[in-house]
Amino acid sequence: MQIVLANPRGFCAGVTRAIEIVERALERFGAPVYVRHEIVHNKHVVDQLRSKGAVFVDELSEIPPGAMTIFSAHGVARSVEEEARERSLPTIDATCPLVTKVHFQGRHYVKAGRTVVLIGHPGHAEVIGTIGQIDAPIHLVSTQDDVMALPFDADTPIAYITQTTLSIDDTRTVITALHERFGNVVGPEVNDICYATQNRQTAVRELASISDLVLVVGARNSSNSMRLREIGTEMGVESHLIDDGSAIDPQWLENVGTVGITAGASAPDELVDSVIAALKQLRPATVSELDGVKETIQFRLPAALRRPATAQVPAAE
Ligand code: SF4
Repeated sequence: MQIVLANPRGFCAGVTRAIEIVERALERFGAPVYVRHEIVHNKHVVDQLRSKGAVFVDELSEIPPGAMTIFSAHGVARSVEEEARERSLPTIDATCPLVTKVHFQGRHYVKAGRTVVLIGHPGHAEVIGTIGQIDAPIHLVSTQDDVMALPFDADTPIAYITQTTLSIDDTRTVITALHERFGNVVGPEVNDICYATQNRQTAVRELASISDLVLVVGARNSSNSMRLREIGTEMGVESHLIDDGSAIDPQWLENVGTVGITAGASAPDELVDSVIAALKQLRPATVSELDGVKETIQFRLPAALRRPATAQVPAAE
């Protein structure tokens, strides 16, 4: 059996930064540090950070007075930032800079007098944060039908922004529907949506084209991991989303010559390694990797964690 790895796969720059923020905060300020929501959507990552002293909470009300508080990579609504300020919680923001950029884009379009449509999934943490970062009504759409149901005249100036874990390909049909329905529509440049989402989706397409089975390493609540599995399936290849090697069903390997493996942006390499090891236990296999885009993007840490270790606990930022 051949095992082929997609490239790129796994951690993106935003996830790497968010995890480093929690680790550095633990080193700098000592345990516990409190993280609002899962720092990234991966149980393994969350459990590892928990073992080092991070405490994950759903609401700020669960955080004791004065405790170091970190906002997750998905971003938070302004009301959450305001609540932290009111409670004088020292905060560090691990929101991915590409998510923050979407917030800026939304505000810019509102200032320009446009009605803003957000293309995304209802209930996703990033979507809730983005809607809550813009002081104007934001209209969430996921499908062409949602676009048809928007209660605006055809000459309404519209601007769209998108959830970062949707690729250009994912949003294309909705954007086309917006242009068909409205005469004055603007949106960000094509390359302004997250580079990592697009690269991983392009890579899984290439992977699926040469595989009999595609395994996507990632969590079920990870939007980008789910999408990678869907793309494999759309390409007519049996595809499964798995947490790690223990989730492999040996029956999947019947009549399979090539297994393709990729990983969502929040899935660590060690989980991919566990999948390779589990496959090799089931069948003799060679491992190779596809060529792909080389990612060199890195995001700077927040100022509070770049300062020398003697720095004081930051005020709410
Ligand atoms: Fe940032 Fe993109 Fe990674 Fe999301 S997937 S954390 S937007 S780099």
